[in-house]
Amino acid sequence: MAHTECPDCGTTLRGIKLTDATERFWSEGTSRVDQQYAAEDSKAGFMFGIEAEGNIYGRLCTKCGRILLYAVPMND
Ligand SMILES: [Zn+2]
Repeated sequence: MAHTECPDCGTTLRGIKLTDATERFWSEGTSRVDQQYAAEDSKAGFMFGIEAEGNIYGRLCTKCGRILLYAVPMND
C-alpha cells in the first residue's frame, strides 16, 4: 500500500509523475515519457528495446523533499 504521508515528517504526500526525455518514435528530445521499469537482466531487442514490466509513479513530500517510488506492474 502506497504511503499517503511522508515517513520522515508526516506531511501529506503529493502524487508526481516521473518523466524522462527518451523519445518513443520521432519526436526526439521534445516529448517526455513516463518512467518504466524492467527486469534487472533485460536486454534491448533489435526492434522494440527493453520490454518494460510496469510503470513507476512517485509521491513527493512538499515539506522535506523526499520522493517515494512505487512500481505499477502492467497486466497483459
Ligand atoms: Zn517529509
